[in-house]
Amino acid sequence: MNAIPFDNSYARMPETFYTKLSPTPVAAPELIAVNRPLAQRLGIDADWLASPEGVHVVAGNAVPEGAEPLASVYAGHQFGSYNPQLGDGRAILLGEVVDGAGQRFDIQLKGSGPTPYSRGGDGRSPLGPVIREYLVSEAMHALGVPTTRALAAVTTGDQVVREQFLPGAVLARVASSHIRIGTFQYFAANKNTQALQTLTNHTLTRHYPEQLVAENMPLALLQAVVARQASLVARWQLLGFIHGVMNTDNMLLCGETIDYGPCAFMDEFDYRKVFSSIDQFGRYAYGRQAAIAHWNLARLADCLLLLDERPSEFEQALGGFQDLFEAQFLQRMAGKLGLQSVKEGDDALVTAWLQLMQDRELDFTLSFRLLAERAEDDGSLVFGEFEQRWRRRLGQQPADAAEVRSQMNGVNPLYIPRNHQVERAIEAAVAGDMSVFEELQRVLQQPFDEQPGLEAYAEPPRPAERVTQTFCGT
Ligand code: AMP
Ligand code: MG
Repeated sequence: MNAIPFDNSYARMPETFYTKLSPTPVAAPELIAVNRPLAQRLGIDADWLASPEGVHVVAGNAVPEGAEPLASVYAGHQFGSYNPQLGDGRAILLGEVVDGAGQRFDIQLKGSGPTPYSRGGDGRSPLGPVIREYLVSEAMHALGVPTTRALAAVTTGDQVVREQFLPGAVLARVASSHIRIGTFQYFAANKNTQALQTLTNHTLTRHYPEQLVAENMPLALLQAVVARQASLVARWQLLGFIHGVMNTDNMLLCGETIDYGPCAFMDEFDYRKVFSSIDQFGRYAYGRQAAIAHWNLARLADCLLLLDERPSEFEQALGGFQDLFEAQFLQRMAGKLGLQSVKEGDDALVTAWLQLMQDRELDFTLSFRLLAERAEDDGSLVFGEFEQRWRRRLGQQPADAAEVRSQMNGVNPLYIPRNHQVERAIEAAVAGDMSVFEELQRVLQQPFDEQPGLEAYAEPPRPAERVTQTFCGT
């Protein structure tokens, strides 16, 4: 039996979709981490993956039996400007596996050497971005957010040259697929309607099989993706997560979060918050993420319209985004406030809460935990007039204070991958000490539970620890 049970559907697509090539070997790979539960789910023996043989596969020094490595091509709008050809410039898809429930996953190596799509880049990744993506993507998964995942990570023993010499690393990333809005844009720009049709069928088969019977399949695909992205971005908003680089090549048709380059969780709440060093004009600020997702989906609609000339129906599907987003946001935000269902007037209560956090520059994450403690009325009002309104609203439902508190603590995390902690883990890793990464990674696996002795991980940064900028993974 093969060490990884591959079944590669993308490699069976037409040759215009990719370039087949193998990863470029590295000098002296060493294991950083193996995600045991994920390996098991994918039918991969975690002990094998952690063995020298498995480490060589993750490093790209050996191509495992059954893999059909390739770099896929795509295009995309980056900060609003169209780039007609991007593609996997520092990543190689090894192949796909199907889990016990019949769900298909890509296994991709990120940082595995140059490809025809690398242009100027070296196809490599420094250790820092690999540590960041491992921590944040696995934290997102533990928080219940659809996301690409980290299967394993290794250091390469080579140095990569950025502003300085940095240790190199490779991440084995798992995604339901890497099909992006930019993949559709690539074929649409080339007016290759046959490829668009093939890609539409493939995407529906893989992610929305119930839509294969739809009379208008391109429209059905758009509707399904609109719904999934509305739900995804609502979940980001509810956690104070800022993606940072919502280009159309970083938005997946499967609705998973991808690209953890300059992303960050907010500490103190601010609608206008931006971390990414390259986002000078706040295009991808926290408060703009839904509008940007909508804009990106309009670019997908442009492509799909080449297959079906019924613009009014496509416009209607796109127009539904805002309502779907707001409904998801309100429903889950009500849950975060301890409400058992949404009633008229709750949207105003939510707005008042966000305004209070904005005005007082409160920590987004801890404020919900503190509010949960306030469910028991002790006569004082930590959150002022809002708290009175909130308590009156709680009074309209049967739950007692203890129930409200436990409901709230079940959906409001205590531990998020705070920037300063991620930076601390990266600094230690670059200096050769993986223990900070390992402990943080463990803490983030139980984001809702109090973990005695590990309280420091829940704390916002002290002034000297504040991280004000994040950088792309390049
Ligand atoms: P990203 O910022 O990860 O969304 O990447 C945008 C594009 O730049 C993609 O086509 C990447 O493959 C490419 N790219 C990013 N970093 C590198 C690198 N170090 N070497 C080659 N290509 C890269
Ligand atoms: Mg990207």
